Amino acid sequence: NMTRKLTAAKGTLVNVMTEQIALALSNIRLQEKLRYQADRDPLTGLFNRRSMDKVIAREIRHAAGRASPLCLAILDLDHFKRFNDTFGHQAGDALLHQIGTLLKGRVRDRDIVCRYGGEEFTILFPDTPFLDALHRLKDLQKEIRELHVPHNGQILESVSVSVGVAILPEHGHTPESLIAAADAALYRAKTEGRNRIVVATGLKAPAGG
Ligand code: GH3
Ligand code: MG
Ligand code: MG
Repeated sequence: NMTRKLTAAKGTLVNVMTEQIALALSNIRLQEKLRYQADRDPLTGLFNRRSMDKVIAREIRHAAGRASPLCLAILDLDHFKRFNDTFGHQAGDALLHQIGTLLKGRVRDRDIVCRYGGEEFTILFPDTPFLDALHRLKDLQKEIRELHVPHNGQILESVSVSVGVAILPEHGHTPESLIAAADAALYRAKTEGRNRIVVATGLKAPAGG
């Protein structure tokens, strides 16, 4: 009788422990999921602005510590309000989604793509010489321009994109100053006619290949 009681108690203990472990595991999974969601933009699955601000600080420390190059690009779709007005907000979302997928698929694993705002994306190119980043950006600019996204049985018009580029350490040592430099270059790309890449020095990316 005593033995039977002991066996039953052990069984209960095992059950309780199994439950606790299952609960702990599902808590970890839930936490991972929540962290993933907090760092991402739901439409594109790219990093959001909040996580980008963390990542850029980390990458600046990394680059400065090893004296390796780091480029930051801000991409802003041209006349996207007009696109929405013409094709509708849903079509705009479809295009944003495709552009996000394109960007993520075309950069190297180390590069970090982020949806920085509504129709603005940033790309960080760690350990990348400036000219390599510039070539990559030119390819991306062309691919975005040539993107044909099907939506509700029609093929959407494509949009052009303007890009501002800043380099560590030439144009800034902090996340704020680097972003401000890229943003100022982007502003120039817009005022000089859009559909172009402007580097923060005031040097414009050479035309063509
Ligand atoms: P510019 O060439 O000067 O950048 O002109 P723009 O129209 O792209 O710039 P503006 O800042 O005036 O408007 C941005 C537009 O982007 C406004 C809004 O309709 C659109 N937009 C922002 N976020 C989203 C989004 O999540 N979905 C869709 N469909 N549109 C968005
Ligand atoms: Mg914008
Ligand atoms: Mg825009």
